[in-house]
Amino acid sequence: MIPYGRQDIAEADIAAVVAVLRSDVLTQGPVGPRFEAAAAAATGAAHGVAVSSGTAALHLAYLAAGIGPGSRVWTVPNSFVATANAALYCGATVDFVDIDPVTRTMAPAALALKLEQAERDGCLPDLIVPVHFAGLPAAMAEIAALAARYGATVVEDACHALGAHDGTAPVGACSYSAMTVFSLHPVKIITAGEGGLVATNDARLAARLRLLRSHGITRDPAEMTLPCDGPWFYEQQALGFNYRLTDIQAALGLSQIGRLGAFVARRTALAARYDRALAGLGLGLPRVPAGLASAWHLYVVDWPPASRAEALVALRQAGIGVNVHYIPIHLQPFWRARGFAPGQFPVAERHYAGALSLPLYPRLSDDEQGFVIAQLGALCQAVKAAE
Ligand SMILES: *Cc1c(COP(=O)(O)O)cnc(C)c1O
Repeated sequence: MIPYGRQDIAEADIAAVVAVLRSDVLTQGPVGPRFEAAAAAATGAAHGVAVSSGTAALHLAYLAAGIGPGSRVWTVPNSFVATANAALYCGATVDFVDIDPVTRTMAPAALALKLEQAERDGCLPDLIVPVHFAGLPAAMAEIAALAARYGATVVEDACHALGAHDGTAPVGACSYSAMTVFSLHPVKIITAGEGGLVATNDARLAARLRLLRSHGITRDPAEMTLPCDGPWFYEQQALGFNYRLTDIQAALGLSQIGRLGAFVARRTALAARYDRALAGLGLGLPRVPAGLASAWHLYVVDWPPASRAEALVALRQAGIGVNVHYIPIHLQPFWRARGFAPGQFPVAERHYAGALSLPLYPRLSDDEQGFVIAQLGALCQAVKAAE
């Protein structure tokens, strides 16, 4: 089976992990901070805080932004459920903003309308979380301007977008946000097995994230509120978690981040070939607005909804692991039970009806991609003949 996404593991990655396994320290050793420094350098942020998953990174970023019971968090329905779930972990309430039909990221026009209404109703959001869907940066300048006007903080869910460029700077430089969150899951741009990262330019936020990552405990005498009792002493100052990344994982992440440029270049070349080869098939193809550079986590085509399910099954039977990103979050039973219903976010729902993610990952060979393209062409002809 050709999957829709998968990791690219080199011998150097394996050697880096084995070196940690042979060392004295498996977690909280020297490799974690080295990975954080490399990740901060790659994104252009002043600080990188590594954690155990992208979901943990979202949870801690929301907490560090001051989100708690009574807070309101807005995101998009076209994302993985973790983006919204992490707000509930904090005790906040969640609402959604519909997406733009072309970029499939948060629509500034929909955000502006919803903010006007929320101001009248006295329920403005505390936090707005755009998602850089498929690796394409959301319309950050517009979203950040609206957030500033209405007093909301912005956290970017960039789990798809390590290595992307938002027109001003690399995604993660936080040009338009307080914090930017990445995932290191194997299908994402680089992997640590599991892992996540929060990038920020704010030293106080970075310190808060580090505290919350490890039980709310500090061992730094300079940060203690009580007199330090001795070299064994630590102080719990907040309710934190064990969201640490092991050095085993950090070694993989550090080795991988050295190939970030190559990974994104290969993904971009594969996407460009899909653009050319699929142009005549009558499918909706992803578009990148001028000035932006996608990290190309996903290549999502818009298939005619009437035959999408059939096409997905036929492609999987041919050994092509196509997928669907995303079932709108608000349509999940868990979220319907919280008051959401079909019809509320029509653009995300229309996107879902036709969405089909094609295989896209650095190790996808030219031959494999050629096979995918040929199968898609044959399928489109069969669908047209049946019409
Ligand atoms: C993968 C992903 C997450 C969660 O990341 P994990 O590392 O799997 O916890 C959150 N948001 C989006 C948009 C993602 O794609």
